[in-house]
Amino acid sequence: MNTLRSMSIVKRIALVAHDNKKADLMDWAKYNKRVLSQHFLIATGTTGRLLEETLETSVFKLLSGPLGGDQQLGAMIAEGKLDMIIFFWDPMEAQPHDSDVKALLRVAVAWNIIIACNRTTADFVLTSLLMNKDIAIETPDYSGYLNRKVV
Ligand code: PGA
Repeated sequence: MNTLRSMSIVKRIALVAHDNKKADLMDWAKYNKRVLSQHFLIATGTTGRLLEETLETSVFKLLSGPLGGDQQLGAMIAEGKLDMIIFFWDPMEAQPHDSDVKALLRVAVAWNIIIACNRTTADFVLTSLLMNKDIAIETPDYSGYLNRKVV
Protein backbone atom coordinates (compact mmCIF):
# COMPACT_ATOMS: atom_id res chain seq x y z
CA MET A 1 0.00 0.00 0.00
CA ASN A 2 1.31 3.43 -0.88
CA THR A 3 2.16 5.70 2.01
CA LEU A 4 1.75 9.44 2.32
CA ARG A 5 4.48 11.91 3.02
CA SER A 6 3.92 15.51 3.88
CA MET A 7 4.99 18.39 1.69
CA SER A 8 5.03 21.61 3.62
CA ILE A 9 3.87 24.98 2.36
CA VAL A 10 7.56 25.89 1.98
CA LYS A 11 8.62 23.58 -0.81
CA ARG A 12 12.14 22.28 -1.34
CA ILE A 13 12.67 23.10 -4.99
CA ALA A 14 15.71 21.96 -6.96
CA LEU A 15 16.65 23.87 -10.08
CA VAL A 16 18.98 22.54 -12.77
CA ALA A 17 19.72 23.71 -16.30
CA HIS A 18 22.09 22.39 -18.93
CA ASP A 19 24.38 25.02 -20.39
CA ASN A 20 22.23 25.77 -23.47
CA LYS A 21 19.21 26.12 -21.19
CA LYS A 22 20.70 28.25 -18.43
CA ALA A 23 19.60 31.54 -19.98
CA ASP A 24 16.03 30.18 -20.27
CA LEU A 25 16.02 29.08 -16.64
CA MET A 26 17.38 32.43 -15.43
CA ASP A 27 14.73 34.27 -17.41
CA TRP A 28 12.01 32.02 -15.96
CA ALA A 29 13.40 32.36 -12.42
CA LYS A 30 13.58 36.14 -12.69
CA TYR A 31 9.96 36.25 -13.85
CA ASN A 32 8.97 34.03 -10.91
CA LYS A 33 11.27 35.59 -8.34
CA ARG A 34 8.49 36.52 -5.92
CA VAL A 35 7.10 32.98 -5.73
CA LEU A 36 10.50 31.30 -5.69
CA SER A 37 11.63 33.50 -2.79
CA GLN A 38 8.93 31.88 -0.63
CA HIS A 39 10.53 28.45 -0.97
CA PHE A 40 13.82 26.70 -0.21
CA LEU A 41 15.94 26.62 -3.34
CA ILE A 42 18.56 23.99 -4.12
CA ALA A 43 20.60 23.77 -7.32
CA THR A 44 23.52 22.10 -9.00
CA GLY A 45 26.68 24.18 -8.70
CA THR A 46 26.77 26.39 -11.78
CA THR A 47 23.02 26.77 -12.02
CA GLY A 48 22.99 27.74 -8.33
CA ARG A 49 25.69 30.38 -8.76
CA LEU A 50 23.79 31.97 -11.65
CA LEU A 51 20.53 31.82 -9.71
CA GLU A 52 22.08 33.61 -6.75
CA GLU A 53 23.20 36.40 -9.06
CA THR A 54 19.86 36.53 -10.88
CA LEU A 55 17.56 36.32 -7.84
CA GLU A 56 19.86 38.07 -5.36
CA THR A 57 19.03 35.39 -2.84
CA SER A 58 20.92 32.47 -1.38
CA VAL A 59 20.58 29.05 -2.96
CA PHE A 60 21.78 25.79 -1.43
CA LYS A 61 24.41 24.75 -3.97
CA LEU A 62 25.43 21.15 -4.63
CA LEU A 63 28.35 20.05 -6.79
CA SER A 64 28.21 20.91 -10.47
CA GLY A 65 25.88 18.48 -12.26
CA PRO A 66 28.50 16.58 -14.28
CA LEU A 67 30.75 16.36 -11.21
CA GLY A 68 28.19 14.58 -9.05
CA GLY A 69 25.52 17.23 -8.49
CA ASP A 70 22.85 15.28 -10.39
CA GLN A 71 23.62 12.24 -8.28
CA GLN A 72 23.41 14.31 -5.10
CA LEU A 73 19.92 15.38 -6.17
CA GLY A 74 19.00 11.76 -6.84
CA ALA A 75 20.13 10.81 -3.35
CA MET A 76 18.10 13.68 -1.85
CA ILE A 77 15.00 12.41 -3.65
CA ALA A 78 15.52 8.85 -2.42
CA GLU A 79 15.97 10.18 1.13
CA GLY A 80 12.78 12.27 0.96
CA LYS A 81 14.64 15.59 1.07
CA LEU A 82 13.27 17.17 -2.12
CA ASP A 83 9.75 18.13 -3.15
CA MET A 84 10.22 19.09 -6.77
CA ILE A 85 12.69 19.64 -9.56
CA ILE A 86 12.67 22.24 -12.27
CA PHE A 87 15.03 20.61 -14.72
CA PHE A 88 15.66 22.39 -18.02
CA TRP A 89 17.63 19.66 -19.77
CA ASP A 90 18.84 20.09 -23.32
CA PRO A 91 17.06 17.84 -25.83
CA MET A 92 19.45 18.84 -28.64
CA GLU A 93 22.86 18.02 -27.23
CA ALA A 94 24.37 14.93 -25.66
CA GLN A 95 25.85 15.58 -22.23
CA PRO A 96 29.02 14.04 -20.79
CA HIS A 97 26.88 12.97 -17.84
CA ASP A 98 23.92 11.58 -19.81
CA SER A 99 23.84 8.55 -17.54
CA ASP A 100 23.46 10.81 -14.48
CA VAL A 101 20.67 12.77 -16.16
CA LYS A 102 18.83 9.57 -16.96
CA ALA A 103 19.31 8.34 -13.40
CA LEU A 104 17.93 11.60 -11.98
CA LEU A 105 14.84 11.48 -14.19
CA ARG A 106 14.32 7.83 -13.28
CA VAL A 107 14.61 8.28 -9.52
CA ALA A 108 12.27 11.30 -9.65
CA VAL A 109 9.60 9.16 -11.29
CA ALA A 110 10.33 6.22 -8.98
CA TRP A 111 9.60 8.41 -5.93
CA ASN A 112 6.68 10.36 -7.42
CA ILE A 113 8.53 13.67 -7.23
CA ILE A 114 7.21 16.68 -9.15
CA ILE A 115 9.50 17.25 -12.11
CA ALA A 116 9.10 19.97 -14.71
CA CYS A 117 11.37 19.70 -17.72
CA ASN A 118 10.25 22.70 -19.72
CA ARG A 119 9.03 26.21 -19.12
CA THR A 120 5.35 25.57 -19.72
CA THR A 121 5.24 22.73 -17.21
CA ALA A 122 7.26 24.79 -14.74
CA ASP A 123 4.71 27.62 -15.10
CA PHE A 124 1.82 25.26 -14.44
CA VAL A 125 3.57 23.78 -11.39
CA LEU A 126 4.45 27.12 -9.87
CA THR A 127 0.94 28.50 -10.31
CA SER A 128 -0.73 25.41 -8.86
CA LEU A 129 -2.97 26.11 -5.84
CA LEU A 130 -1.12 23.27 -4.12
CA MET A 131 1.99 25.46 -3.95
CA ASN A 132 0.34 27.46 -1.16
CA LYS A 133 -0.71 24.51 0.98
CA ASP A 134 0.68 21.84 3.24
CA ILE A 135 -0.20 18.69 1.34
CA ALA A 136 0.36 14.94 1.38
CA ILE A 137 1.97 13.17 -1.55
CA GLU A 138 1.77 9.47 -2.27
CA THR A 139 5.00 7.55 -1.92
CA PRO A 140 5.00 4.32 -3.92
CA ASP A 141 5.09 1.10 -1.98
CA TYR A 142 8.24 -0.85 -2.76
CA SER A 143 7.79 -3.44 -0.03
CA GLY A 144 7.04 -6.13 -2.62
CA TYR A 145 10.36 -5.38 -4.27
CA LEU A 146 12.26 -5.08 -0.99
CA ASN A 147 10.86 -8.35 0.33
CA ARG A 148 11.22 -10.30 -2.91
CA LYS A 149 12.75 -13.71 -2.74
CA VAL A 150 16.21 -13.56 -4.27
CA VAL A 151 17.82 -16.76 -3.04
P1 PGA B 1 25.53 22.79 -13.41
O1 PGA B 1 24.99 21.35 -13.69
O2 PGA B 1 24.40 23.56 -12.83
O3 PGA B 1 26.64 22.62 -12.45
O4 PGA B 1 25.96 23.34 -14.74
C1 PGA B 1 23.86 21.19 -14.48
C2 PGA B 1 23.78 19.79 -14.98
O5 PGA B 1 23.35 18.90 -14.26
O6 PGA B 1 24.19 19.56 -16.10
